[in-house]
Amino acid sequence: MKAVRWHAARDVRLDDVPQPSATAGEVVLAVAACGICGSDLHEYLHGPLYIPKTPHPLTGIAPPVTLGHEFSGRIVDVGPGVTALRTGQRVTVNPCLLCGGCAWCRRGQANYCAKLGSIGLSRDGALAPLVGVPAYGCHPLPDDVDDTAGASVEPLAVVLHAWRRARLSGGERVVLIGAGAIGLLLLQVLRTKGAGWIGVVEPRAERRHLAEALGADAVIDPESGDPARAVARLTGDERAAVVFECVGSPAAFATAVRAAGKGGRIVLVGLVAETVPANLLGLLAHEKEIIGSSAYVDEFPEAIRLLAERRVSVDPVVTTRVPLEDAVSHGLEALLRREEGHVKIMIVPR
Ligand SMILES: [Zn+2]
Ligand SMILES: [Zn+2]
Repeated sequence: MKAVRWHAARDVRLDDVPQPSATAGEVVLAVAACGICGSDLHEYLHGPLYIPKTPHPLTGIAPPVTLGHEFSGRIVDVGPGVTALRTGQRVTVNPCLLCGGCAWCRRGQANYCAKLGSIGLSRDGALAPLVGVPAYGCHPLPDDVDDTAGASVEPLAVVLHAWRRARLSGGERVVLIGAGAIGLLLLQVLRTKGAGWIGVVEPRAERRHLAEALGADAVIDPESGDPARAVARLTGDERAAVVFECVGSPAAFATAVRAAGKGGRIVLVGLVAETVPANLLGLLAHEKEIIGSSAYVDEFPEAIRLLAERRVSVDPVVTTRVPLEDAVSHGLEALLRREEGHVKIMIVPR
């Protein structure tokens, strides 16, 4: 079968690979849809970041590796020892690979696992017609969550975890930096969970329009003036109680720190690979908190429920569907062509 494999930065190929078969404790899915994540784009441009440079301690895998960690599919093969899943079931998959034995795993803090890995980074992922996955990661999908929504459960779980990390109480003012897929899903979660005023900082006009349509109270173009000053002006100088940084750049971090008001919390969701300077005196004097948010722990069931109840919709966020063969030219590369206006691109293996 064909698979989209990462070999090196700027070197992702459509390779011929053997079909997976279900080993003990695992199932094989026929992939229905697989989203391209911002982190896939980071790996494409600057990787390896999360892709292991040497064999991963849990999987023994080193590049090349098949990308794809946001996916849904139908079970076509069930391995020995798997009793809770059956052939034909539609599922989405928590891609985290866990050792199960470290102190963090035993405490239920899966995202801290000492050997944490991920399908699509440290073992072959779902940018392929078939993918083998551990049964423990599978979550059956109800009929009212379609394949595309099923492939968006993973980023929605990222969003729910970030929301939880922020410790929001009702009515607090929020600023979102970045209206990509994560920012636009987070906006919907904030609306359904009862945040107060929500301002969105985003340079792309079509994403600002989406943010307005999805319930932002104000949208701010950071390329037409200082966005933190705009937040101050719009909030009577109080600024935001919580700022979510969903871009992952030094400039976005700097804006996030300044858009947060006194006692504000800054939640880091976007990936920043470089070292970033910070005005520690400003953070200290105004008692601002910087909070990391990484992946998710047990947010998949709530993400599935929010999608099934239509309280969050991925339809406005998914801008195109692309066949597997075009995953580089019309997927990864298309996301770099800003004029095309993409947010989330879904790969649909045929
Ligand atoms: Zn992702
Ligand atoms: Zn562990």
